[in-house]
Amino acid sequence: MKNWFTVEPDVTRIMNKHFTPGRGGQRIEYITRHHLAGILTTEQTWQVWQTRQASAHYVVENSGRIGQLVWDRDTAWSNANLASNQRSIAIEHSNSGGAAADWPINDTVIREGARLAAALCWFYKLGRPQFGRNVRDHREFGQTSCPHHLANGGKYHSTWMRIAQEHFDWMTANPSGIPPTVAPIPAPAPIPEEGFLMALSDAEQRELLTKTRDIHAQLGPWAQLGQNDKGQNLTLVDAVADSRRKQGHTKEK
Ligand SMILES: [Zn+2]
Repeated sequence: MKNWFTVEPDVTRIMNKHFTPGRGGQRIEYITRHHLAGILTTEQTWQVWQTRQASAHYVVENSGRIGQLVWDRDTAWSNANLASNQRSIAIEHSNSGGAAADWPINDTVIREGARLAAALCWFYKLGRPQFGRNVRDHREFGQTSCPHHLANGGKYHSTWMRIAQEHFDWMTANPSGIPPTVAPIPAPAPIPEEGFLMALSDAEQRELLTKTRDIHAQLGPWAQLGQNDKGQNLTLVDAVADSRRKQGHTKEK
């Protein structure tokens, strides 16, 4: 695939027949999976479909190369069901061994097909690939076993779905197509030693300071409280003690 984010295939060989221009007013809703019963390149598939009334949007070749044969905006003749054809994008997966080997599909084709489906889900905003919702199988719509071992419950199904979801998640996390740069995590700022004053607002701290100064001033010394025997003004504490002494509350008489 040349570009997952623009869904640009490796090769384009657009059909000149056996498809329908446009989608009959329908919008793309899901991907339909197919198994290509032949080990064919895009060009060879194009040739086969010249004489068969069939087509699909994409072919994943045995090499993993992805070819486009019908534009996404047009209706491929893939699912033997008009309503389904108009709403889906068809992906053919090449097999790698034919009937004698029971139609194996190699890992590369599974991977590239799943990634292509994920890219289409991403591009057309169909959501994360989920079978039965935005990923369907050909056999749901016609009298066929296609996509055979790739079908839901088949031996390739779960791997295909896992790769599709992983690829979708990767694309969602990196919409620019650039691998994420790991931003350094800044060291946490030191937590200041928090005294009780930290809980007060600036205004409250100012008020507290003013009142503290007032109280300090009220403690004296003041001339009104009298003077000690050295002629110094008494503080409030001195004056109270002096007063108690004079009233006989203490043993110091
Ligand atoms: Zn099919």
